[in-house]
Amino acid sequence: MAQDSGKNVGGKPRPKRKSVAERKPVGKQPRTKREREERFVEIQRILTKTYPNPVCALHHRNAWELLVATILSAQCTDERVNMVTPALFAKYPTVEALAAAEIEDVVPLIRSTGFFNNKAKNIVGAARRIVESFGGEVPRTMEELLTVPGAARKTANVVLGSGYGIPSGVVVDTHVQRVARRLAFTGEVDPVKIERDLMAIVPQDHWIDFSHELILHGRALCFARKPNCAACPLDALCFAADKTSTEVTVEKQAAKPPKGKR
Ligand code: SF4
Repeated sequence: MAQDSGKNVGGKPRPKRKSVAERKPVGKQPRTKREREERFVEIQRILTKTYPNPVCALHHRNAWELLVATILSAQCTDERVNMVTPALFAKYPTVEALAAAEIEDVVPLIRSTGFFNNKAKNIVGAARRIVESFGGEVPRTMEELLTVPGAARKTANVVLGSGYGIPSGVVVDTHVQRVARRLAFTGEVDPVKIERDLMAIVPQDHWIDFSHELILHGRALCFARKPNCAACPLDALCFAADKTSTEVTVEKQAAKPPKGKR
């Protein structure tokens, strides 16, 4: 392949492409608490308008099926889980049925979701725990759910939020982690600390939808590699250090807000 000479046809030097930091700003970075609050309200308004009535991508008919699907979704796509659960629930239609199952009989049904031995152990263990300790009904509190095998805080938030409509916290998956950091809602990397920061700035009645919106935004535009900033409705309000094609001035420190501030 020919070497790029840095010149156009005719020998004229090609204009140097501006670095991200040199591009003309069109948005105003928030400096005060009030500006950060106004920015957050505007981002929330845009997300709600862009992703109206968001729903959980995991197919389920009740909180029990959602709990199982969420456990299976670890290190696996929601699409793959949705391909697996119909046959699983056809063979084991109730909590009691799965509680009575042999783990080795469950493994073939969930094999394609990965980590199948552990997941089979967890979903059968969860069924047994729910039958023995909660009368066969998925519990409705974070404290109780955390005693169920396979249910850590994220899973419990999914089940309580999308299964029962209880805003117990903000679901923090990889999309939420990435988008929340890019939008400077948090400077943390630990999901528990990210959730704490989000719970401090998002009104509780929006916790359930807000995590769905960030997940949908992460899937639609704010990709891990090369986010599609040119098409993003939040472009003017986002100052992420790894933005792609954009007109907004980027300041790396904007991705790390002072602790306790929006
Ligand atoms: S502007 Fe880019 S980095 Fe910022 S939220 Fe949108 S897609 Fe993500």
